[in-house]
Amino acid sequence: MSEAHRMFVAVPVPAWVREALEEAVAPLRAQHPRLRWVAPESWHLTLLFLGDVAPATVPRVAGALAGSVAQVQAPRIRLEGSAGRFGRRVLWARLEPDAELDALAAAVREALAPLGFVDDKAFSAHLTLARAPRDGAIPDAAERDFAGPTSSWRVEQLNLMRSVRGPSGATYDTVATWPLS
Ligand code: ATP
Ligand code: MG
Repeated sequence: MSEAHRMFVAVPVPAWVREALEEAVAPLRAQHPRLRWVAPESWHLTLLFLGDVAPATVPRVAGALAGSVAQVQAPRIRLEGSAGRFGRRVLWARLEPDAELDALAAAVREALAPLGFVDDKAFSAHLTLARAPRDGAIPDAAERDFAGPTSSWRVEQLNLMRSVRGPSGATYDTVATWPLS
């Protein structure tokens, strides 16, 4: 029997936003080299983390996601230009609250709940930039000194992603993608 894969549902960051954000992150990265910085090409916004998905379940997940995107408007995402932290472990770029983005996340969650994929935590839109080292914390300065772009873009697609965890962090690949209209 083939193995389950670790999966999540996310929206990607377009290249031009990635470039602007990369420039803003570069000085922080240099100042805090011990943090585990997410590679810019891996930046994404997670709508729902699925965890292990058996190969036989993937087509059902895909079918449910296809149905969910048909019901919603493509949201706009706006970066606020500031950062936040979850505890002392995760540093992220802040997004402006957006009802359409929340509706997309809700549609994804409603579509996948019947398949047993649920997140007990409420959806909290964020773009992870760095994680604390195993034996450390995100310093206050990293949050305070982040001065990012206030870029905004229309979300054009929803992705089903696979996460492969390795010694130097996880790498992701896109399993399937659906356009939003
Ligand atoms: P690593 O955990 O190896 O440091 P990672 O967090 O990038 O790397 P995954 O843990 O596979 O990789 O997570 C993939 C995506 O799902 C990330 O956006 C992560 O923040 C999110 N995620 C992971 N676990 C959860 C969870 N329990 N609840 C909500 N989101 C999660
Ligand atoms: Mg993780």
